[in-house]
Amino acid sequence: MSRIGHYIHIRSLDVPAQYLCFITMINFHILGAGGAVPTPEHCPAAYWVGLDDEYLLLDPGPGALVRLVKSGLNDEGVDGLGAIILTHLHPDHSADLLAILFASHSVVCTNTTPLRLFGPPGLKVLLEKLFDIYGSWLTPRSRSLEVVEWHENQALKLNNGGIIKPFKVNHPQDRLSDYAVGYHFTDCEGHTAVFSGDTGPSPELNKAARNVDLLVVECSTPDHLATAGHMSPETVGQLCQDSQPRKTVLTHQYPAAAGLNLVEELSKFYDGLVCQARDGSSFQVGDNSAGSGSEPGPERN
Ligand SMILES: [Zn+2]
Ligand SMILES: [Zn+2]
Repeated sequence: MSRIGHYIHIRSLDVPAQYLCFITMINFHILGAGGAVPTPEHCPAAYWVGLDDEYLLLDPGPGALVRLVKSGLNDEGVDGLGAIILTHLHPDHSADLLAILFASHSVVCTNTTPLRLFGPPGLKVLLEKLFDIYGSWLTPRSRSLEVVEWHENQALKLNNGGIIKPFKVNHPQDRLSDYAVGYHFTDCEGHTAVFSGDTGPSPELNKAARNVDLLVVECSTPDHLATAGHMSPETVGQLCQDSQPRKTVLTHQYPAAAGLNLVEELSKFYDGLVCQARDGSSFQVGDNSAGSGSEPGPERN
């Protein structure tokens, strides 16, 4: 039986901007700097992104909830999740949806605000199939579940003035989805960040990344293992040359890439500011902190 009736479908994402924004910054915390095959320092995709004072979980790959709780970045754990956004439905970016929904069914959860999920078309079918298997075990105990599939040219405007805009990227899909997306983030003061998600070279990504303060881009493999639908140092270099981001962070590293100094590899193609992410890396853009970060891997200015 379809469980789609559990969801509330939001028709308009535009929220009136009635806010006083005191924290003007984008925080990009990397909970998982790897792809589907983890290394000790590169778990599958998971990111905790702050747009001013609003935080969301980006790409809940396997173990994302555990890593978020261990990070100390969200004291309330699963009850502290307000919005989850997905780039695509491959398991290394979505598998922990199951763990999060099951945890939110627990009697210890008391949050009464809706849990909001945003992702490409196919997300609702994925959830329907999970509900077909697990039934009400996945129904949040104290809150409703709102599911939004992106449509062309749609953007999410947050109450605090932040804007999240998806754009199509170049990544082979599965039976559920026609396409994957990346995200462009803008805070209330106009600071910008882009997350590529999984993608090969893509004109849409080049356009979205033009002159952004922070580009978090996948670099799955070394050049000699370059794979369709993914990036390697050479293609990331071409992207950065064209788009000129203020700072670039390399993520989604499979073991062969994670074992290399990707910053050195990229320096053959691009001479801008670059950093290689590992789990626990953290990057900020905003007033007095443009392009700063903590605990990064190799870095070059
Ligand atoms: Zn992936
Ligand atoms: Zn993928």
